[in-house]
Amino acid sequence: MYSRQRTISTHSNSSNGNGNGNSARPVLVPKLQQPVTLSESVQVTVRCRPPKKDELNNCWNLSNNKISSEDPKLKKQHQFTFDNVFYGSNNAELYSKSVERLINQAMEGFNATVFAYGQTASGKTFTMAVTREFLLRVSYLEIYNESIRDLLNPSNTNLKIQQDKIRGVYVTPLTEEVVTSPQDVLNIISQGEANRHISSTDYNLHSSRSHTLFQMIIESREKTNSTSTTYRRTLTQSGYGVKSKDRVKISQLNLIDLAGSEKAASNEDRRKEGSYINKSLLTLGTVISKLTETSGNKSPGHIPFRDSKLTRILQTALTGLAKVAVICTISPALQSIEESLNTLKFATRVKKISIHAKNDD
Ligand code: ADP
Ligand code: MG
Repeated sequence: MYSRQRTISTHSNSSNGNGNGNSARPVLVPKLQQPVTLSESVQVTVRCRPPKKDELNNCWNLSNNKISSEDPKLKKQHQFTFDNVFYGSNNAELYSKSVERLINQAMEGFNATVFAYGQTASGKTFTMAVTREFLLRVSYLEIYNESIRDLLNPSNTNLKIQQDKIRGVYVTPLTEEVVTSPQDVLNIISQGEANRHISSTDYNLHSSRSHTLFQMIIESREKTNSTSTTYRRTLTQSGYGVKSKDRVKISQLNLIDLAGSEKAASNEDRRKEGSYINKSLLTLGTVISKLTETSGNKSPGHIPFRDSKLTRILQTALTGLAKVAVICTISPALQSIEESLNTLKFATRVKKISIHAKNDD
């Protein structure tokens, strides 16, 4: 069913011997020294949204998994190839080709992370909205100027990042809500979005300058005779204190709507925000590249997770048998071609690394 996707195999071939069958899947506590093989695990998608009324006509040509454009200033042709390339508004298609597989892997016990990267107003939030229909335990936070805010309890201002052997890296005190239906999830997202509005004078500006992380903690264990509702309730109440003999798998699914990748404007506040954003997007690129550079038997060396709050919070999810999707969004408009090219270069950097690493195997 998923065989058309080239960069992710159904089962990890990494060197720790965890394949399918009954062997333990990765749980919330990764072996930090264990090298990851993101070459098999990173998928890159580019999505170009339809033009708005005030925009010049589409300057990008898309066919199959290729995207190309002519640079009118330089008369130079740009061409890129990715795992998937989409034009338009079909969220169901994007979900089934670029996201669904990763969600299933998260349900099986892998940590999975989806990033939406791109210029402001290119469609990151529009794209991430399609993936939020899952259950179990969820939290929702925002990182703005390197401080973390609980979007489910905005009076919770003093959030800290901690790490322990059981949970890996986590944010505390962060509200976690148990969810048992898609509607629960949608309600929590609306609540978080409403809290984002309240504290900002210019919501649109604020939302383009902050990262949000919607996180779902998924626990599962072998099915008992209980009904599915009871089963879920027991699982979620078991929290993090489970013993390994219970054969409980715990994984996280992270949905990340990144701050706009465009260059910062010139006023003082924007410059400050811009430098935090640049730093965290740059660190994110470096972390992914460091992880993918590492082949099966080499040590990962120093990975700069601590250089930004975003990568630090994601340390557990990006270590071990991590599954990652990067969805890069671009505007179709000619006046945005510079920013679109920057976004495609970021996407290429991720993609090149994964192809390169694969060839080295
Ligand atoms: P970003 O989060 O990157 O700043 P948004 O997701 O808020 O951008 O998108 C900006 C505007 O464009 C919104 O009004 C959104 O509804 C619209 N939009 C974005 N992507 C698409 C798409 N693929 N199809 C139709 N409309 C889109
Ligand atoms: Mg947005």
